[in-house]
Amino acid sequence: MCGELRAEDAGQDVVLMGWVNRRRDHGGLIFLDLRDRSGIAQIVVDEKSAAAHAKADAARPEFVVAVKGTVRRRAAGLENPNMPTGEIEVVASELLLLNDARTPPFSPAEDAIANEEVRLKYRYLDLRRTEMQANFALRSRVAMAIRNYLVGEGFLEIETPFMTRSTPEGARDYLVPSRIHAGSFYALPQSPQIFKQILMVSGFDRYFQIARCFRDEDLRADRQPEFTQIDLEMSFPQMDTIFRVTEGFLTAAFAAAGVALTPPFVRMTYDEAIRNYGIDKPDMRLPAMVSLTEELTPELREKLKIEQGLPVLGFVVPDAGNLSGTERKKLMNEIRGGFGDCGLDVLDLVRLQTSQEFSELFVHIDQALSTEYRKFLGKEDTPSVFQSIMSGQSTGQPYPLAIVVTPKLGTTAQHRAGTVAGILTHGHSWHSDPLETSIYKRVGALRLELGAKYADKHGLFAKTGAAADFKFVWVTDFPMYEWNEETRTWDAAHHPFTSPHEDDIRAGRLASDKGAVRALAYDIVLNGNELGSGSIRIHRKDVQAEIFRSLGMTDAEAHERFGFFLDALEYGTPPHGGIALGLDRIVMILAGAASLREVIAFPKTAKAIDLMVDAPTPATPQQLRELHLRIATRS
Ligand code: ASP
Repeated sequence: MCGELRAEDAGQDVVLMGWVNRRRDHGGLIFLDLRDRSGIAQIVVDEKSAAAHAKADAARPEFVVAVKGTVRRRAAGLENPNMPTGEIEVVASELLLLNDARTPPFSPAEDAIANEEVRLKYRYLDLRRTEMQANFALRSRVAMAIRNYLVGEGFLEIETPFMTRSTPEGARDYLVPSRIHAGSFYALPQSPQIFKQILMVSGFDRYFQIARCFRDEDLRADRQPEFTQIDLEMSFPQMDTIFRVTEGFLTAAFAAAGVALTPPFVRMTYDEAIRNYGIDKPDMRLPAMVSLTEELTPELREKLKIEQGLPVLGFVVPDAGNLSGTERKKLMNEIRGGFGDCGLDVLDLVRLQTSQEFSELFVHIDQALSTEYRKFLGKEDTPSVFQSIMSGQSTGQPYPLAIVVTPKLGTTAQHRAGTVAGILTHGHSWHSDPLETSIYKRVGALRLELGAKYADKHGLFAKTGAAADFKFVWVTDFPMYEWNEETRTWDAAHHPFTSPHEDDIRAGRLASDKGAVRALAYDIVLNGNELGSGSIRIHRKDVQAEIFRSLGMTDAEAHERFGFFLDALEYGTPPHGGIALGLDRIVMILAGAASLREVIAFPKTAKAIDLMVDAPTPATPQQLRELHLRIATRS
């Protein structure tokens, strides 16, 4: 292959086939950079090989060429250290033009052009680019490493249908009309969820599939209507078993990209994630939030005009300091502006520090923030946050930025009156107060905003290629239900096959206090991205029926949609559980790519269009007739 030739190969006769990456005509000598999947080799065609020279003369970029020749070392001083094959060239004795090519709309020899629509329309040319070739080679290696690991752990790869019934994962279904059964439709699976559970009923014990899933939802930049999951299910597992297997295949996948992970990963409950990071997918590359609620005694709150009883939270952004007084004020105003009228404010720490009255509070805040910061750095001997501010100021070194957020006087009343836009969250709310949860979330969002704003300074998001770039965390004990403000109903937060905590079932919370029911559900999170979710499932029909009821489904509706599954549960279903992780996202992260489209060979646009094949398209009148469909034009 072109990219494999090295100095040791000098003297070898080779046959190479590929595309003309670039052509340089030096009169008597023509240089062709020949590209195949493995890389690029320089071909020299001398006019003394007259036939070959004439063909090289006619060759143009992207022509398909076969070359017979001999490898030789380049003359001293003419090596190209930027090319793996830069020490050699191939002297052509014969050359065949296997095919010509129109002038391409962009050159596969160059970096990606900015216009992504053109890239997608001419995807075959875009995929020729070295970077894309590397992405798909990586994807293949990663998938193979995962397969090998899982098969080694006794998993069987089993395919499940694409044409099936609806699987509730919270998105809209893609439907396929049936020609044979007028008016009936198959649904494309949002996931293999029900089938993999049925495979456990069938005794397969350990199933996996690198499975395509289809979800018709409003597309965000990081979503695709069809995407690939590493989907697995096990019988008789503890949560720990699923965590170990998942950590195992992720370690294998990352090793395929040259990254050595060191499981086990950190674990925390959903509740801890909200309290410490203000989000259910914590980005552990930044220090956690710190509760200063206890430090702000009722007397101090009164003096500082801080609402009683609500959380006060602080956090540190590493190495973001070196702000002048004016810059600091500007930042505080920006933060206040960002809070809008949600009832939050930033505490002026400079004021605290310089005032006699609050100096003790200041010391406490410093201690609390510094303890967390040292924990984050893993260095006991780091100076306190404010000490480093002081010393940083004198030495010009970057120092941490400390932010403390407080609820303003009147926040509770405002909230109770329901006047604060967006602050009422019914979902995920077994915290005593939804207002509290919303404060955690808002401060968590600010932590991320400032983390991103100062990324260049702290460098914590930079990719070094080391395992430390990848901060994994398991989040467990998710809420079972989520309040849907639109439909004013409780929805399943994961999916309706997730088992609630035994304790919550026993305490009767399914009926009395849905917001407080925890699920045996877990997410695996990487650098603030949810990579996958799973759960221990319900394996008893009575519990499953009760959950359907609690989601507002009548028994008749449950029977109509999931009768086959409820039946299956009655024939000796083992306790089981599983997980599914997005393969596309994992490869995207490993490739350091900016979007899922860089690692999906034929992706769709944000409007769910395949620009290359031009899909979707209207059906012909005959197809519509056969499918018993009529298109109604919307008025
Ligand atoms: N089917 C679930 C999903 O797609 C994953 C699981 O529960 O195993 O999120």
